[in-house]
Amino acid sequence: MSHPPSLLQDLPEQVCVLVVGYGPVGAAIGCLLGRYGVRTLIIDKAPDILTQPRAIALDNEALRILQMVGLDEQAFERVAIPQVRMHSPYVGQFGQVNSAGAIDGHAKLVTFYQPALEAALRRLVDAQAMVQTACGVELLELVDDGGGVTARLRDASGVERRLRAGFVVGADGAASFVRRSIGQDFGGATYPEDWLIVDALDVPRPIDHIEFICDPRRPIPHMPAPGRRERWEFMLAPGETREQMESDARIGELLRPWGEPGQMKIERRAVYRFHARCCERFSRGRVFLAGDAAHITPPFVGQGLVAGLRDAANLCWKLAAVVQGRATPAILDSYDQERRPHARAMIGLAKLMGRMVMPRNALVAILTHGTVRLIRLLPPLRRLLDDLGIKPKNRFDKGLFARGGGRLPRGGQLPQGWVRDAQGRIRLSDDLLGDGPVLLGFGLHPHHQLDEQRCRAWTAAGGRMLQICHRSQSLHRGDDAAEDLTGALLPGAAPFGWLVVLRPDRVVLHDGPADEAARLVDESLVLLQGPAPAGLPQAHHTGSTQA
Ligand SMILES: Cc1cc2nc3c(=O)[nH]c(=O)nc-3n(C[C@H](O)[C@H](O)[C@H](O)COP(=O)(O)OP(=O)(O)OC[C@H]3O[C@@H](n4cnc5c(N)ncnc54)[C@H](O)[C@@H]3O)c2cc1C
Repeated sequence: MSHPPSLLQDLPEQVCVLVVGYGPVGAAIGCLLGRYGVRTLIIDKAPDILTQPRAIALDNEALRILQMVGLDEQAFERVAIPQVRMHSPYVGQFGQVNSAGAIDGHAKLVTFYQPALEAALRRLVDAQAMVQTACGVELLELVDDGGGVTARLRDASGVERRLRAGFVVGADGAASFVRRSIGQDFGGATYPEDWLIVDALDVPRPIDHIEFICDPRRPIPHMPAPGRRERWEFMLAPGETREQMESDARIGELLRPWGEPGQMKIERRAVYRFHARCCERFSRGRVFLAGDAAHITPPFVGQGLVAGLRDAANLCWKLAAVVQGRATPAILDSYDQERRPHARAMIGLAKLMGRMVMPRNALVAILTHGTVRLIRLLPPLRRLLDDLGIKPKNRFDKGLFARGGGRLPRGGQLPQGWVRDAQGRIRLSDDLLGDGPVLLGFGLHPHHQLDEQRCRAWTAAGGRMLQICHRSQSLHRGDDAAEDLTGALLPGAAPFGWLVVLRPDRVVLHDGPADEAARLVDESLVLLQGPAPAGLPQAHHTGSTQA
C-alpha cells in the first residue's frame, strides 16, 4: 500500500529560525521575521486554527503592534468598547473604566473574534517569501549544542525527520513542550474554580460596553463582540460539572436574564480553568519562549494575547539583527530583561481584578466593592482607577537602551500620531518608520547634523533618518519629512532641534540635542550591535549566524 508523501519532505534542511506553534503569537512572529527578511519555518501540530472561545479583548498597545506586523484596520473586525462597568449585588455599580477614545492612533479597547485575527495573520504569513509553514507537524525533541539547535519533528502519519535551526522560538502555548525542553518551571498558581465561556449570536438586547457582575454566588463578565456576538463567562459553583454546564438546557437558564433560549443562537461553549503563571527566564541558549508558553494570565484584564504580541514585537527585530550579522547574540539577553517584569506585572493586575470579580463571599464582596466605591470619591484616585492609571507601563528598567535621562522615555515607546508625509498623504506616524532603527530629527533633518561617514555607518546598520516637522513647518523642511498634524510627537515629546533614535519596535533607544548627533549615533550603533565578544574590538565583532 502506498502512503501519501510526507509534508516533512518539503521542509528545508536548515532555517535561521524555527517557530514552534502557529497560534496568534507564532503567526505574529512569522509575519515580523518575514518582514525583516529572516528565513523562518513555523510548525504546528494542529491541522488548522483553533476555534475555541479564547481571547476577545485587545488594547491600543496590541493594535499598535498588529499595525507594525502589517494588519490594517480592515484586516479583522473589531468593536470599540467605550466603558467597562463593575456591578456589585450589594453596593451597586462600584467601578468603571473609561475606555472610549484612542491612544497612539488606536482605540483604547476593542473586542474581536480570535479565529478571524488568526486567519488575517496567516494570510500575511502566506505572503512572506522567507517564511514557510507546516501544519500537522509536531516537535518531539530539541537539542541546543551552542552552535545551533537540532529539532526532531513528526508529521500526522508518524514520519519523522530532523531539522537544524539557528534559533528556536517556542510559541507553543500554555502546555509548551519547548518550555519543558529547556527545563523551565511554570511557577505560579492555577485557580481552583472552573468557568463556562459562552458565545452567542443575535442577542435580543445587545450591550455596547463590558460589564462585570461581581456576585460571589456567580460572577459573570459579559461583553459584546463583532458579528452580533456576545460573550458571557460564568463561574461554576461547587458541585457543578462541565457536562451539566455545557448542556443547552443549562446554558438557556443561565442566559435567560438576557433573552429567551430561542431568541439567540449559541455559537461556542467551553469550560476553562484559569492560571497565573510565568517562567523564571524567557530564554535559554538559542531557545526563546513567547506568548502563553512563557506566561499565562487569568483573562480578567484581557492581557494574555496582548502580552504575547509584546513578546513578538520585542524579540523578532533582535533575532533578525543577530542572524543577519548586524549584532552579537548578547543583545538577545535583553528580551528576558525587558519582557519578563512587565508580563509579571500584568499577571499581578489580572489577579487583583480577579479578587474584585470573584469575591469569596458576601462579606468580602461588601468590603472589597465598598472600598473601591469609597476610593473613587477622591478625584485623583478616581482618575487613577477610571483611566487605568494602575495598568503597568510598558517601559523597561533594564535592557537595550541608553542609560541616563533624556527628554524622551528611553526604554519606553515613542507616542504615535497622525502625520502628513512628503507626498501629502495623511498616515499614522509608525507607518513611515519602516522595519529598521530610525534616527528622527524634531524640526530638523538628522542628515544635516552628521558627517558622511556616520551617515553611511547608520545606513549600513539598516537605519534610516526622518525629519518630524511641526504643523505647517516649511522652513528647513527636507524631502524625507513628516508633518505632525496633532502635536502627538511635537512639541510635547521633544523640543525643536532634538534627535531621537528608535528601535524597530518603536522603543526609544537614545535621544539628545542635535549638536550631539555624532555621539548619539556612535552610542546607538554600539548598543544595537551588542557587546563584543572578549578579545575583539567593538566595531568588528559582528558576523552572520545565518543558518
Ligand atoms: C477564556 C479565555 C479568554 C481570553 N481572553 C483574552 C482576552 O480577552 N485578551 C487577551 O489578550 N487574551 C485572552 N486570552 C488569552 C489568549 O487566548 C492566549 O494568550 C493566546 O491565544 C495565546 O496564544 P499563543 O499563540 O501563545 O498560544 P496558542 O494559541 O495556544 O498556540 C499554541 C500553538 O502551539 C501548538 N503546539 C503546541 N505544542 C506543539 C508541539 N509540540 N509541536 C508543534 N506545535 C505545537 C498548538 O497546536 C497551538 O496551535 C483568553 C484565553 C482564554 C482561555
